[in-house]
Amino acid sequence: MKCSKCRQDAVLFQRYSGLHLCEDHFTIDLETKVKKTIRKEGWIKSGDKIAVALSGGKDSTALLYFLTKTFGIRRDVEIAAVTIDEGISGYRSTQICKSIAEQAGVEFHTASFKEHFGITLDEIVQKKGDINSCSYCGVLRRQLLNRTARDAGATKIAYGFNLDDEAQSVMMNVLRGDAETLLRKQKPVEGMLPRIKPFKTIPEREVALYARLQTTGYEERGCPYSYNALRADVRGILNQYNYGHPATKYALLNLGEKFKSGIPADSTGAETCATCGEPVFGSCRVCGILKELKGE
Ligand code: SF4
Ligand code: ZN
Repeated sequence: MKCSKCRQDAVLFQRYSGLHLCEDHFTIDLETKVKKTIRKEGWIKSGDKIAVALSGGKDSTALLYFLTKTFGIRRDVEIAAVTIDEGISGYRSTQICKSIAEQAGVEFHTASFKEHFGITLDEIVQKKGDINSCSYCGVLRRQLLNRTARDAGATKIAYGFNLDDEAQSVMMNVLRGDAETLLRKQKPVEGMLPRIKPFKTIPEREVALYARLQTTGYEERGCPYSYNALRADVRGILNQYNYGHPATKYALLNLGEKFKSGIPADSTGAETCATCGEPVFGSCRVCGILKELKGE
């Protein structure tokens, strides 16, 4: 297949856009979307020091590459890498992360569960079993990551989460009936660095392709404790459903964000439609439909 935009061979077919893209046009497409997300969210400003949460996997390695490529030339923005060593034997290698950071030419900071909490994740699993390993790990890592990035002078933490991760999280919260997590808006807390997710609109397979084309040396192995059953099920369901309905993952991402932003002020209570005089939430859907039917 040839690229829809030039004569080169395509490396990707995007079902949701109908486009075949070559390496060059795929790279432009992905980077343009990520820049747009960053701009729209106001995520990177002059004076920022962005700490990339570097796990050494494809997503965070690709994110570090993208951010240094895009912002590395700016003198008013700094990029750094932070790696947390949870103490999972045969998996987390700070050495791999260190060399990825060196390749990207950024500062590298690291901290370990053992040295800060006095226990490794392997030891926690020995004590508690592996059923809740991710809950313990996530809570501890989040705090240590924040502390390490803050001590390094960072102003924000960047995560490599992609569209699939975000859509899965929303769906999981729905399936658990976890209204609290869906609705709770994170308030800014003194000392807690804001989190940014530049790849949140990019499908996992595209981030993986970007990582493969642009970077080397990332870790392909997964965490030995990462068999979260619900996430694996949701991933399967979403991928299957998304095949016939390619906008599903975006819809879930948007749904999650709408929940989090709370109910906008102009639709908190019933108002009256200026055209039909009926009570409405926000804009009047009846009048919208009538207008559409009349072909206006
Ligand atoms: Fe920790 Fe779970 Fe991630 Fe493994 S998969 S590093 S246990 S959060
Ligand atoms: Zn092309």
